[in-house]
Amino acid sequence: MKILLPFTLLMLLLVAYFVFPEQGKNPDAEPESFARQEEPNAPSPQPEAAVSLSLLPAAVIQGEPARIAIQGVGSPSDIESLTFDGKQLPVFADAHTVGALVGIDFHKKPGSYPIVLTLKNGRTIEEKFDIGERLVATEKFDIPEQLGGNTSEAEHKLSSSLAEDTTLIQRVLATTASEKLWEGPFRLPLDGALTITDVYGYKRQTGSVSLSHQGTDFRASEGTPVYAMNQGRVAFSGTFRNYGETVIIDHGLGLMTFYMHLSKREKEKGESVEKGDLIAKSGNTGYSLGPHLHLSVRINGFSIDPMKFLELMGPK
Ligand SMILES: [Zn+2]
Repeated sequence: MKILLPFTLLMLLLVAYFVFPEQGKNPDAEPESFARQEEPNAPSPQPEAAVSLSLLPAAVIQGEPARIAIQGVGSPSDIESLTFDGKQLPVFADAHTVGALVGIDFHKKPGSYPIVLTLKNGRTIEEKFDIGERLVATEKFDIPEQLGGNTSEAEHKLSSSLAEDTTLIQRVLATTASEKLWEGPFRLPLDGALTITDVYGYKRQTGSVSLSHQGTDFRASEGTPVYAMNQGRVAFSGTFRNYGETVIIDHGLGLMTFYMHLSKREKEKGESVEKGDLIAKSGNTGYSLGPHLHLSVRINGFSIDPMKFLELMGPK
């Protein structure tokens, strides 16, 4: 009996605390639950009302990549489709978001374009996406001696072989895996401090042939090791007349990295690669005016600025 009385008192106190939890608190302090009920007649929010689209960066120019983040959906399986300017984009999930990558064609007309998200429940969300104009500088280029020098015959050959190279690249692009092969951030293709010798996007006028430089050139002496920027599968390992010895890695969902003008290829088509695997040695083959590594990144077929890609998908 001696034990029972204090026990009963303790139980009463506990009951009182849970039944009247606000008692004894400062009456001026507004309880958190009260603040959320300012409009008692407002309809309770639908869970799908939280779905939204955001773009990183908010505006891009011709030849740049962007990342679309879809907030408020659990997984890509909640999504029926995502389109940019009417074209379907593959949706993926990573550590941070559910989203998609969009590559803006170098030749896309500047303006405002729609992104439309359709959920499995039929709901659609639309956002506008602005594409600005790229200022394109032009530089005169000589045809390298190894490709015949500055003769009209060499110029003709350059133009016709570029069309052949483009056809072959289109075939390679069509083989992209339907699932995401990459994991985590992309690394740079070379080790150590990098020097960019040629930026993306300017025009190289070679006689009557105008070529836009759709990649980034890094200084690399002949034989410098070149590494896979992320996990993937070798989609092409071979020789182009103009791009020289080339390795192309497919990272899935329309994302591919191109390593060009190599001296030696270390991987064959169909091989799986991990991020950081040695895939080649840099060189000076094809339409190249000196040893370097040319890197191109394609998203859904479009070659975009690799350095802008690394800002979005590179090491944080
Ligand atoms: Zn280049």
